[in-house]
Amino acid sequence: MKHENVLARYYAVLDTLPDHIFVFSETGEYLDVYGGEENATGFDCKPFIGKRLHDVMPEELADGFLTHILNAINTGETQYVKYKFDEGSTIELPHGLTVPKELWFEGVIKSLPTYEKGLRTVVWNAKNITKQHYLEMELKHLSEVDELTGVYNRRSFTKLLQAAIDTYHEQHAMFALIMFDIDYFKRVNDTLGHSVGDEVIRHVVDIFRAGLHKGMAIGRIGGEEFAILVPDRGEKEAFELSETLRNSLCNTPCETDLYEIVVTASLGITEVCQEDSNTLGLISRADEAMYESKKNGRNQSSIFRPTIKEEWAEVVETSWIKVKGL
Ligand code: GH3
Ligand code: MG
Ligand code: MG
Repeated sequence: MKHENVLARYYAVLDTLPDHIFVFSETGEYLDVYGGEENATGFDCKPFIGKRLHDVMPEELADGFLTHILNAINTGETQYVKYKFDEGSTIELPHGLTVPKELWFEGVIKSLPTYEKGLRTVVWNAKNITKQHYLEMELKHLSEVDELTGVYNRRSFTKLLQAAIDTYHEQHAMFALIMFDIDYFKRVNDTLGHSVGDEVIRHVVDIFRAGLHKGMAIGRIGGEEFAILVPDRGEKEAFELSETLRNSLCNTPCETDLYEIVVTASLGITEVCQEDSNTLGLISRADEAMYESKKNGRNQSSIFRPTIKEEWAEVVETSWIKVKGL
């Protein structure tokens, strides 16, 4: 077969590849463009040939791309990059086309042994991973967020709390933790049904969330038990916040189709201290303080005191517990 025919066949084969394949010089010039018809951007990039990265995209994006190209050439190592094109960083498309929406790509960049006009070259394989990216984001969201209320679930909240503890030890960034539990919630379920119970839980979270300031985070720790991370505040300031939240809850009944339900919550507050290396101590102190609020009549806030448990010991019936080995 003639040399030109072989080349024509190779080009035709390259153009059937589903991902875009770009060949760049080390100055960022598009030397060749192949493929990409099926699952790339739905547009033809061949008109880029002869142009430079800086001719078709914003300077910052082009600078970043060129750095990856030079890294591939200078280190000889394959570069993997994830990037997106969106309205803010649109590449200038041929024939006045605009990028339809946010598009995500994974670029695999390899140094080539060939030179073009004395310049080194790379091949850049651009795989459209938009669908995969959104699926990943959705899975991440589902794994971090409580389905009923939309707040952080226990796992992701605990992670945030641990990060706050670490920052406290590294940078002395004080914070407090508020825990709360809805009062007499079982009777809502028992009297009005589980779905009204769900509405009440959502109502409580909505009221509390509306009263939070920037940087605060709320998470669902258990059934109708929640926690709030309060950055840059100690327990006294957190107590004031706690009382504000509690007041707005008891002054705002939950309105369902058929009922107006007065809901209250009991809250417990503690602040981070030098002994906290993980979340266990903090959570159990806030929990103890919360149960003091319950014990003292509910619909109130309490700050943790080290003696709470000892005081309880006098009143809690313990005959049903046997200590092993005795
Ligand atoms: P207390 O004032 O001592 O807190 O009394 P309480 O009745 O609120 O008791 P508790 O906090 O132990 O009640 C928890 C109840 O919450 C038990 C459980 O059936 C219910 N629950 C937990 N998760 C959900 C949920 O997602 N939806 C509904 N409707 N109920 C839930
Ligand atoms: Mg409760
Ligand atoms: Mg509870």
